[in-house]
Amino acid sequence: MKKILLLLLIIPLSIMAQRDGGYEPMDSKVWFKNNQEYTVKSKELASVKDANKHFKLGEWAWDSGLEDEAWEQWQEAIKIDKNHKSSYERMGFVQNDKKEWVRPGKVNKDWIKKVDKSNMAMDFTIAIEDDADDDFMEEFSWRIKRLSWFIWDLTEGQVYLRNIKVVDKSSDGRFIIEKGKLTQTLLQGGGAVCYNSGREDWLVKSGGRCYVRIFCHEFFHGIFGLPDERHGCFCLMQGGLYGIKTPDLMLCDKKGHRESTVTPTSCWELVVKKYPHMVHPNKVAYGKAPDVNISIKNN
Ligand SMILES: [Zn+2]
Ligand SMILES: [Zn+2]
Repeated sequence: MKKILLLLLIIPLSIMAQRDGGYEPMDSKVWFKNNQEYTVKSKELASVKDANKHFKLGEWAWDSGLEDEAWEQWQEAIKIDKNHKSSYERMGFVQNDKKEWVRPGKVNKDWIKKVDKSNMAMDFTIAIEDDADDDFMEEFSWRIKRLSWFIWDLTEGQVYLRNIKVVDKSSDGRFIIEKGKLTQTLLQGGGAVCYNSGREDWLVKSGGRCYVRIFCHEFFHGIFGLPDERHGCFCLMQGGLYGIKTPDLMLCDKKGHRESTVTPTSCWELVVKKYPHMVHPNKVAYGKAPDVNISIKNN
């Protein structure tokens, strides 16, 4: 009896210890299996013009740890039905007085001015080497918006995307969507890599359907020069975040960082060292991220 009690006590404690460290990624084998199942299901639905069916596949993807795939389906649903309520709600939108779908919260304009002044509002070009069609541009614009929300939340309102140009049939940009990889998924080799990490001339190369969290990871390599965290620290700079949902993503700080000889310093400490005007935690009520001004040049 005593033994059983002790076991019962130890198990919850070990789970708590894990939670305290941050993420609890899914078993990668399960995640890969779900991903393959999604590929089949989404192909079956590709030409079906039924918003509810796409919404439901989105729900399945979300529950299966496939967040970007869920977004793909919810976006498909609102393409078919411009006011697909459930899809907008699952993407975190609310309807305002004018019946427009917007993200909740307010933009703190005074704070944005400060961020602009500190040169942390990003203006750059994303160059697509292939010839992209309007559908691709529309879907890709969602990735850019989501990327700015990721950046804003993870930097606690201190960096955002301001003016982003998207140009196809070009190789001249900060982000380059490589030739032949336009519609490649992550598992088909459409992942991303950052070059010249932490230097003025940083550069990201990627596929056209790369996960937004990976775009964000590469962006943080670029502007902050953060190293990869492959040593047990639960942080966006670690790979293999299978099934982790956006609200649970974080950039590690001194308290949460798991040290190793390769990465002795937490990400937030490195960020503040490179940009001493940045603070963590940021106690200002910085509000929601301002809208990204996306201009598309479809050549
Ligand atoms: Zn990396
Ligand atoms: Zn860390």
